[in-house]
Amino acid sequence: MSNEVNHQVRLAARPQGTPGPEVWEHTTEPVPEPGEGRIVVRISHISLDPAMRGWMNEGRSYAPPVGIGEVMRALGLGEVVASRNTDFAVGDTVTGVLGVQEYVESDGRGLQKVSPTADVPPERYLALLGMTGMTAYFGLFDVGALKEGDTVVVSGAAGAVGSVVGQLAKVKGARVVGIAGGPEKCAWITGELGFDAAIDYRSENVSQRLKELAPEGVDVYFDNVGGDILDAVLGRLAMHARVVICGAISQYNAEGGMTGPKNYMNLLVNRARMEGFLVGDYLPRWGEAGTELAGWLAEGRLRSREDVVDGTVADFPEVFLKLFRGENTGKLVLRLNRA
Ligand code: NDP
Repeated sequence: MSNEVNHQVRLAARPQGTPGPEVWEHTTEPVPEPGEGRIVVRISHISLDPAMRGWMNEGRSYAPPVGIGEVMRALGLGEVVASRNTDFAVGDTVTGVLGVQEYVESDGRGLQKVSPTADVPPERYLALLGMTGMTAYFGLFDVGALKEGDTVVVSGAAGAVGSVVGQLAKVKGARVVGIAGGPEKCAWITGELGFDAAIDYRSENVSQRLKELAPEGVDVYFDNVGGDILDAVLGRLAMHARVVICGAISQYNAEGGMTGPKNYMNLLVNRARMEGFLVGDYLPRWGEAGTELAGWLAEGRLRSREDVVDGTVADFPEVFLKLFRGENTGKLVLRLNRA
């Protein structure tokens, strides 16, 4: 192993707006050897998450920023290739925070063992069976307090989290309207995924369409995007609505700061609440949620779509931008090719 090289992508500068090539540095190191009680993981899949954009910023947040010169933080999946830790054997598949690189040395804390099979590809553990599925599950059921018969609206509806949110709402007997960009995405969520309706925010007037599709108002709004779409849905809330703040991708690259909601007084008028959450806070319950999600998946009541891009770690900066250009459908994953 020691003759091989570990390719890495490091954060070289804090981006202003959309991160261009100048914010990244491509480096190599020898493949690490495990210290006492530690393991080495060969990374095969890197998860692309909008949250990574936030981790690149200076300032106080729920996690410390990635330091300048550090390997970019990323969730991923890989195989244990060397172990001096009795909890892990060579050949185990693990997920966790592994970084944008080919190998990582770790004490194993925070890593989960998973078991891909012929029916369950490894990338699914970064999608419906991983952080993405957990985000949809706890955001909709716990924070959104979903009830049968609710009218649910979800933005980013053809993305990783949004596509699971809409399906979970259908499993629980709700009516679901998805907001997504473009006719193909809208056709996918209403066709294969069984959403009741879709709004193409790029070509349609969202407020007008919500009036037609949710005449009695919106009971749960699961917000992945923020901005104008959040304002449009706030304008259509039902009494005692729950607005789940999962993310605000439309604002992450905004130069000059984020724009907040203008329509928030509708929370007062409708005695509604708006609440943010972090999926990591639900870690002790991930097992319970994972079992339920895997069961619905096996029964065919849920589908998981992974948008897998084959490449090398050097492709990470470009693949990452697909999230902000709306070029992914389902969960975006970079699968690492090796010579
Ligand atoms: P997605 O797979 O949804 O990818 C991003 C999608 O967002 C794109 O495909 C695009 O779809 C849409 N998008 C991009 N720019 C805009 C824009 N300006 N306006 C409207 N839509 C836009 O990512 P994830 O499912 O991984 O993440 C979804 C959200 O959930 C993010 O905000 C993320 O930060 C958040 N999140 C929060 C967590 C938590 O614990 N709170 C945990 C995980 C994720 P389209 O073509 O439809 O525009």
